[in-house]
Amino acid sequence: MKNIGLYLHIPFCKSKCPYCDFYSFSGKSTQKDDYTRVLKERILSSTFTLQSSYSCKADTLYIGGGTPSVLGEKNLASLVNACNSGFLTDDAEITVECNPHGLDEDFFKILSECGVNRISLGLQSAVDSERRILGRLSDRIQVENAVKTAQKVGFSNITLDVMLGVPNQTEKSLKETLDFCISLDVPHISAYILKLEENTHFYKMKHKYNFPDDDLTADLYLQMCEELENHGIMQYEISNFAKTGAQSRHNLKYWHCEEYLGLGPSAHSFLRGKRFYFDRDFQSFMNGDSPIQDGLGGDFSEYAMLNLRLAEGLNEDKVINRFGHSIPDEIYEKSKIFIDNGYMQKTDNGLSLTRKGFLISNTILSEIL
Ligand code: SF4
Repeated sequence: MKNIGLYLHIPFCKSKCPYCDFYSFSGKSTQKDDYTRVLKERILSSTFTLQSSYSCKADTLYIGGGTPSVLGEKNLASLVNACNSGFLTDDAEITVECNPHGLDEDFFKILSECGVNRISLGLQSAVDSERRILGRLSDRIQVENAVKTAQKVGFSNITLDVMLGVPNQTEKSLKETLDFCISLDVPHISAYILKLEENTHFYKMKHKYNFPDDDLTADLYLQMCEELENHGIMQYEISNFAKTGAQSRHNLKYWHCEEYLGLGPSAHSFLRGKRFYFDRDFQSFMNGDSPIQDGLGGDFSEYAMLNLRLAEGLNEDKVINRFGHSIPDEIYEKSKIFIDNGYMQKTDNGLSLTRKGFLISNTILSEIL
């Protein structure tokens, strides 16, 4: 078994952002400590089974949520240490998602000492009026301080989340956000187009907000790709951009359709060809309930769909290596119309979507696969 990725879901946030559909709630401090204890027990039992039955290790650990930083540095360090007791490889990429609000030097020092080597910070926008609409608790200065404090402690691998399609966003305000990211010299940016998810405040109140229309959102996306590329932050996935060598190794596992174990309510896993997930239910996880089986995964269609999210696209050699056959002719035939119209391209050894194609990736993928 190859090295896998390990994901821990921390289901706590100080407050709920109006666009967010992730599983999280505010939680009491006793719940956070209890959750850390239960999650540690799950980490130790799951990783013991994987090591003893399959001699398997993880070379990436991603602590996401929710807002992992609300657990506090000591709880986070104890979770990393539990994973580290023999299960993580020496060169593992260890990422912790943080909300920039109230992070000091001690916080980053303790994370660094226990082996965390990558920090993900939720910026969304550097324009404070946009940040307020998005329900972010910190202002631009606090984000800047958090990045600089992390850098001072020695973190060079930092990623910022940016959002496109925010109410009132313009090309000028997006430029302000991108200039801010570039000035902080971070090597990785994740940039997501805001999607109105059911059960969110934005969805229910959409008539009250001035969301950019589809044309402006597409322009913002293309503007961002170009601007980041001009500064050496290259697109490697629909929503992800990095300087050379700073791509997220953990997220690449998802897009390469490799194996991962997810622990925590709502966390998904793909192991030994099977998909399963924990219910979006805190108490169920605390009670030790088993994950829900979600069928088989990793067939050619799924593999192709995930790989076509990447700028490198679908590669013949890798397909042959994994499935014992080349990319089916039918896929090349169905891609032709998209190639002719500039949405896809033939690469040296396969197929990929162009930037214009990324904007309508769902349509393309459902047509060709
Ligand atoms: S901080 Fe992140 S996970 Fe929490 S509500 Fe906001 S967007 Fe969702």
